[in-house]
Amino acid sequence: MIVVEKISDVREAIKAQKAQGKTIGLVPTMGYLHKGHLSLVKKARENSDFVCASVFVNPIQFGPNEDYNKYPRDIERDLKLLEENGCDLVFTPSVEEMYPNERLTTISVSKITNKLCGAYRPGHFDGVCTVVTKLFNIFTPDIAVFGQKDAQQVAVIKKMVEDLNIPVKIIASPIVRDKDGLALSSRNVYLSDDERHAALILNKSLKEAEKILKSGERNAENIISRVKNILESEPLCKIQYVSCVHPDTLEDLTAINDKALIAIACYIGNTRLIDNLLWSVDV
Ligand code: AMP
Repeated sequence: MIVVEKISDVREAIKAQKAQGKTIGLVPTMGYLHKGHLSLVKKARENSDFVCASVFVNPIQFGPNEDYNKYPRDIERDLKLLEENGCDLVFTPSVEEMYPNERLTTISVSKITNKLCGAYRPGHFDGVCTVVTKLFNIFTPDIAVFGQKDAQQVAVIKKMVEDLNIPVKIIASPIVRDKDGLALSSRNVYLSDDERHAALILNKSLKEAEKILKSGERNAENIISRVKNILESEPLCKIQYVSCVHPDTLEDLTAINDKALIAIACYIGNTRLIDNLLWSVDV
């Protein structure tokens, strides 16, 4: 596995692979890897010849009161996991490498970034879109894999790629959960044992949403209130939002027809967790 810190070294390695006719897959991450991230590497392996990952805690996607400084980091462990899971190249740039001078350019997707997490994390998706565009320009990948765990991020990146004609195929990969149902997240390390237990309520509430959808419920408001009731039954859980939206446009739904995204964000203690259910009539 090649490990590089410089943009110029990425470009050189990619050029050599492309010269051999290899397709390039990219998995952007902020590190502190878990099985969710590794499932994206596997998906990239299935869909491209040369699998690349980036490990970069992107300062510009964190708000002033968010956890940039305390975000968990363990690069040695990340490199070991990536190598064991068949990654070919890892890019671990410094902040100075990615943002060497005063940055005057921001990539900003409107409308769909104003809701769900975007409504509570101003500037977050500008930071995401800007860094992802830079990574796309650095790697020029054929495919890039993102986790459905961050459902709004998938919708925003797909729209950005469409609007800007970026020649990359975006592949969304399913949420990976612990055995007890908690969606894997690097931020789960912040949870105490009690909080970790309380956090199971997120998946439980989505399971209930799935159950009533399967039994024929099509009214979004009924589903939202059922999910909220379950979340409110857990004293350590503070709801930020529960929404039922179209997975591509993120428009609020009143009635559910073909597909829906039930997305939730909650605080468990001081830790903000998100989870979602992607529903379609085929499932
Ligand atoms: P992060 O390191 O949190 O920025 O996440 C990097 C990528 O991994 C993003 O595309 C996330 O959506 C994805 N990801 C994070 N957690 C999971 C999970 N539990 N299952 C699947 N993908 C995930």
